[in-house]
Amino acid sequence: MGDMQVLRGMGVSGGIAVGRAVCIETRVPDVYRIPITEDQVEEEVARLYDGARRARYELQRTRDKANEDLGNELAAIFDAHVLLLSDPHFLGKVEQRIRKLLVNAEWAVHKTAEELDDRFAHLDDAYIRERSEDLTDVSRHLLRSLQGTAHHHDLSELPPDVIIVADDLTPSDAIRLGRAKVLGFAIESGGRTSHTTIIARGLNLPAVAGLAGVIGAVADQASIIVDGETGTVILHPTPEVLEQYEVRKQELDRRDSEFLETRELGAVTTDGVEVRLMANIDLPEEVGEVAPFGACGIGLYRSEFLYIERSPHLPTEDEHLETYRHMIEAAAPHPAIIRTYDLGGRKLAREMMATEEENPVLGLRGIRLTLARQDIFRTQIRALYRAGVYGDLWVMLPLVSTVDEVRSFRAFADDVLRELEQEGVPFRRDIRLGVMIEVPAAAMIADVLAREVDFFSIGTNDLIQYSMAVDRNNEHVASLYQPLHPAILRMLRFVIDSARAAGIEVSLCGEMAADPRFALLLIGMGMRRLSMSPRRIPEIKTWLRDISASDLAALADGCLAHSTAAEVQRHLDNFFECVVSREARERAVRN
Ligand code: PEP
Ligand code: MG
Repeated sequence: MGDMQVLRGMGVSGGIAVGRAVCIETRVPDVYRIPITEDQVEEEVARLYDGARRARYELQRTRDKANEDLGNELAAIFDAHVLLLSDPHFLGKVEQRIRKLLVNAEWAVHKTAEELDDRFAHLDDAYIRERSEDLTDVSRHLLRSLQGTAHHHDLSELPPDVIIVADDLTPSDAIRLGRAKVLGFAIESGGRTSHTTIIARGLNLPAVAGLAGVIGAVADQASIIVDGETGTVILHPTPEVLEQYEVRKQELDRRDSEFLETRELGAVTTDGVEVRLMANIDLPEEVGEVAPFGACGIGLYRSEFLYIERSPHLPTEDEHLETYRHMIEAAAPHPAIIRTYDLGGRKLAREMMATEEENPVLGLRGIRLTLARQDIFRTQIRALYRAGVYGDLWVMLPLVSTVDEVRSFRAFADDVLRELEQEGVPFRRDIRLGVMIEVPAAAMIADVLAREVDFFSIGTNDLIQYSMAVDRNNEHVASLYQPLHPAILRMLRFVIDSARAAGIEVSLCGEMAADPRFALLLIGMGMRRLSMSPRRIPEIKTWLRDISASDLAALADGCLAHSTAAEVQRHLDNFFECVVSREARERAVRN
């Protein structure tokens, strides 16, 4: 056992997890070292050669495609890869590792590539260094090919008390791992609003992100604590520290059960202003949390996860329909707001993209991809209008930046409705259509957009990213990711005022809504609908039931008068200190 070590990052999903580390480096495909027994060796070696054969076949196909699209000279690059995959020296070394170390083929490939790469790196011949890049590429192909067949080396083999320590995790990694019942995450990259951390919160798994170098600091199987409340990770905790954390865990559980008692209470301020607190849902299993946490309907269902979970297969119309029906029923008697696929950007859309993009977050994402690939989206739109017959469904479009996109979508939807009508399939025509306000251009034309749609939902996760020019996943610029920046507050005020003037609903479904202080500021700015992870609802409800909307309106005016995010933060903190001490005074008088 090593000495205790404390690492600090960002607490991106609350709660405390105590367990054993499993390290995953995802910048190459996830590779686990899995011991095999003597009598599994032959089977494992056969898997290796089988995997190599399939990877060669795949590469050959890629080569042929490149030949058609790019010409023979560029396609020749793949020849080197195909050759390497037939190289008896490389595969022989991998085989030897499996036999000698009794490990799975993936691990043997990973380690052999690493060793050869290390040797190449020390040679200063440019040609050889290029071969090293080929090798990295080829070993990734081979790993993917092996993983495609690795039924007996899947995540279900992870022991029960695992905490994943990773350099980076995609949202789909987080879903897979979360469902494999891991206890928590400690990640090098990421920020509060990256989709991976949103998924961690959805699955109620403690997570700390922005932990530079954590992969190098942790050994597999090390004892580890992830404290998502404070953003702390503790390696090799002493028995005393473990005990302290046990006590804290119990306190948190108690706090959660106290919060649950607010379920039946209204989200109403002391001067009678009612606020709708709705649920953000990413995965179908989260709908079970809508009612217990007292959500008034679903304010955002990120339907793209339906696709991400089934990739590379596209969900069928019936799968869409069943999922939407499930959402609508869970939300009843309140509305369910379902967002059309927000794929592209960092959300995997391999099957739909013609080419790789250099800057995908500014690329063919959200509504842009919907309009570009109507052949694929038709299935989703048909299912949405069909699902309308089951209850109060609202449909929302992501990443809108122009009025034309809304009009094009309406024309597309009209076409789909004509088709359904001709087929005699039951559907609902008058579904409310809204847009996400998450691109600064959309925020600045909110008054114009408000005439085109039935509602707005503000996506601050992206609105802040695009306004501040700060990648929401990049831990290096996380300090510039400022929800309280005056530019953001002014934009929010403009959008809220524009919606009110046009008489349409406006809600906010970015992570900003889930922070009690930000939520109250937003209510002060006139927001009457907030959507968040359902687990956040009780705390926010508890806060707002103790404060008057008129005090919050004054708070918002005060905050909007400042010049920097730090000044706004101080203003907000002072206000809350006053409220807390006032509350304490009142309690003292009552008692
Ligand atoms: C947002 O951008 O605030 C939002 C809610 O959408 P997503 O997080 O899925 O991009
Ligand atoms: Mg968004």
